[in-house]
Amino acid sequence: MTPLDPSTLQAIDRAAALLARARHTVVLAGAGMSKESGIPTFRGDGGLWTVNGEPPLNQYETFAADPRRWWERRLEEAVQPSEFASAIDTAQPNAGHLALAELERIGAVSHLITQNIDDLHRRAGQTSITEIHGNRHWMRCVSCGMRWPKAEFIIDAAELPPRCPQAGCGGIVKSDTVMFGEPIPPEALERCARETRRADCFMTIGTSAVVYPAAGYPIDATRRGVPLIEINPEETPLTPLAVVVVRASSGEALPALIDRLRAHREGSTTAP
Ligand SMILES: [Zn+2]
Repeated sequence: MTPLDPSTLQAIDRAAALLARARHTVVLAGAGMSKESGIPTFRGDGGLWTVNGEPPLNQYETFAADPRRWWERRLEEAVQPSEFASAIDTAQPNAGHLALAELERIGAVSHLITQNIDDLHRRAGQTSITEIHGNRHWMRCVSCGMRWPKAEFIIDAAELPPRCPQAGCGGIVKSDTVMFGEPIPPEALERCARETRRADCFMTIGTSAVVYPAAGYPIDATRRGVPLIEINPEETPLTPLAVVVVRASSGEALPALIDRLRAHREGSTTAP
């Protein structure tokens, strides 16, 4: 890891000053956070979709039209996982995930909205979290919205699609991951909106900020005059709205941010 240059360290110090003053900081995280765990990003340089083309936009329509066929394919794929699935299944939380969980523990981050489906935030110890695009390791009933860890949900290959065991429901169960064309569960949207309304500081980390509704939350916050911190090695559509821009990866920036935040809380406000 190369040492951070002085201008990046200054930006991190300004971000730490904002976090030290804030009472309710909300974070929006994207695929850039998982890149250092070996999970490829979708968009941007070398991203899965940049290289292979975007997946079909009617995934959910295909699922809803024939859930049994979709489940049969899923079970076949589980035998021969894709490169992306294998990367997720072997990935470990990186320095960025651990530092973000630490920021929550020390009271500097109140809520995390993540677009990542890889479970690495939870595994790093993050607890106040909305997985707006779902979690690959969970299952969800499309009717009542109930969720279960995948490991606890038994699928009978002779009885597809699996049905919700909740009394009186019996809805179709799918992977919790939100498909293209699938509505985001309303509880997730409500929680994101509620947390964003409470925010007095907003931070985006490793997100290209082009996927809605997720990208709309930091915009809503800045409209209310809430300061926005952007941590991303690349420029994004949100960059012009940010009051502090840290051009570094989350694995580099967040541990340094914790150091500076401690210094601010102890009353030393001079950058190193
Ligand atoms: Zn159900």
